[in-house]
Amino acid sequence: MHDLLIRNALLLDGLGSPAVRGDLAVSGGRIREVGKANVSARETIDADGLALMPGIIDNHTHYDAQIMWDPGLAPSPQLGVTTAVIGNCGFTIAPCRAADRELVMRNLTQVEGMSLEVLRAGIRWEFETIPQYLDMLERRGAALNVAVFAGHSAIRTYVMGEAATRRAATDAEIDSMKKIVLEAMRAGAVGFSTSTSPAHNGEGGLPMPSRLADENELCALVGCLKDAGRGVFMLTKGGQTRLAFLEELAAQSTRPVIIAALLHNSTNPGAVFQDLDAIRDANARGRRLVGAVSCCPLAMDFTLRSPYTFEGLESWQPALPLKGDAYKSKLRDRAFRDAIRTELAKPAHFRLFNGEWDKVTVVESAREDAEQRSIAELARAAGKDPLDAMLELALEEDLDTVFSALLLNSDEAAVARVLRHPASMVSLSDAGAHLTFFNDAGFGLHLLGHWVRALGVLTLEEAARRLTSHPASVFGIEERGALKAGYHADLLLFDPATVARGPRKRVFDLPGGHPRLTTPAIGVEGVWVNGVRLDGESRPGQLLRDFSQ
Ligand SMILES: [Zn+2]
Repeated sequence: MHDLLIRNALLLDGLGSPAVRGDLAVSGGRIREVGKANVSARETIDADGLALMPGIIDNHTHYDAQIMWDPGLAPSPQLGVTTAVIGNCGFTIAPCRAADRELVMRNLTQVEGMSLEVLRAGIRWEFETIPQYLDMLERRGAALNVAVFAGHSAIRTYVMGEAATRRAATDAEIDSMKKIVLEAMRAGAVGFSTSTSPAHNGEGGLPMPSRLADENELCALVGCLKDAGRGVFMLTKGGQTRLAFLEELAAQSTRPVIIAALLHNSTNPGAVFQDLDAIRDANARGRRLVGAVSCCPLAMDFTLRSPYTFEGLESWQPALPLKGDAYKSKLRDRAFRDAIRTELAKPAHFRLFNGEWDKVTVVESAREDAEQRSIAELARAAGKDPLDAMLELALEEDLDTVFSALLLNSDEAAVARVLRHPASMVSLSDAGAHLTFFNDAGFGLHLLGHWVRALGVLTLEEAARRLTSHPASVFGIEERGALKAGYHADLLLFDPATVARGPRKRVFDLPGGHPRLTTPAIGVEGVWVNGVRLDGESRPGQLLRDFSQ
């Protein structure tokens, strides 16, 4: 007698094989039969008209803090995700000494778009080291399977304290960091993550610690993966990080290198393809590199209180440490505004915001006539420069005006090429971070609904592969990501005729009643993790510690 039998589903095996109609039987948390199952089960589901695929592996999340107060990992489970990789970009909360907790939380506030109050109220500091953090996650359980990166910024802060955001590391400090990375890999971390991106700043505009690392430090730390004989290296790349250097790291460490965040940028439309082609060429030379790309347009809600949209601009830096009236008078300052205009007029390899004022709209304002209109439109009507128009509106409303900017990855023909590129991996949901700016936790449903059904850019089989066995093989996640007898029963049952992510909305369920954005799931009929159906309460997820070599 099996636990579960799903009958008559369109089976997408996650490996890209042609879809077939059939049954799938589960017992003891594992898939037992796929195809024709003449068996009986305690629960039988007639899935006529529905499709069944392996659960989605979300390989780029930031649930490290949220998992402390929300082991349900909302909203990912309802959006078809069954495994989440946390600790991307090097932004982890372990390791952390008691004395550095405030510093680590302050670093996370800006970069994760989460208030310090939320972090203070929500994080349970029952660990100091990465192995202790892993043990705690395992003890407490979660809705999803979780794999954890050893994060560079936290490790740097652990070893260097406040100096981590100010200077290069000494040889002795690099040695201490190496010990921590090795210890983490032996305890079951999935790899080592970092960021060199200028968009990644902590509170007060200080760069995230990993941005202060030189190539020597990166070489040494990625080298630990070779010593450990396992693990992947993931990096969110700033413009100054050369692909040739990353290829060298892949060659020296012999480990896979994941390069984020490869988004299409309309002011430098060739850049993402140059990166992907360079990765493909490196693959031809036998190096394991992959480009982390997104299937979602990057749209961000923001207020001028915390305008992530502009904070990567060189000319914005003088405003970053300022607060209150000093900050407001900087926003009024003509020289400050002129410097921004000058910077935006220059070409750049990568820039989050590129002066496309027709793509910045007013979402919430005391001036109702302004809502839903673009800054370009409002500026034209008032005979003003767009930057002046936006800043003046925000200043009039004590910086409460909510804007939305469509920043990157919005050219669908280009994104289609990115998604089809052999060197790309579908990624970058950033679930658990930027909670008030955007939420792409439903990226998998968007791939299935928009790119498969609406646009026909990918087949259903290929989309299912890219959400499951592809990331599983890159990360060395074993016995998941495919509908195969013996594999763990991580499953997503959905209606291919309606599957989609719904419109985003604001909910107030963070600790202290703080808001975040979310999107509802459409067409999802059931999600199982290790054979257990997710219902909001169940916590069947496993902490993943064993990864293939
Ligand atoms: Zn990230």
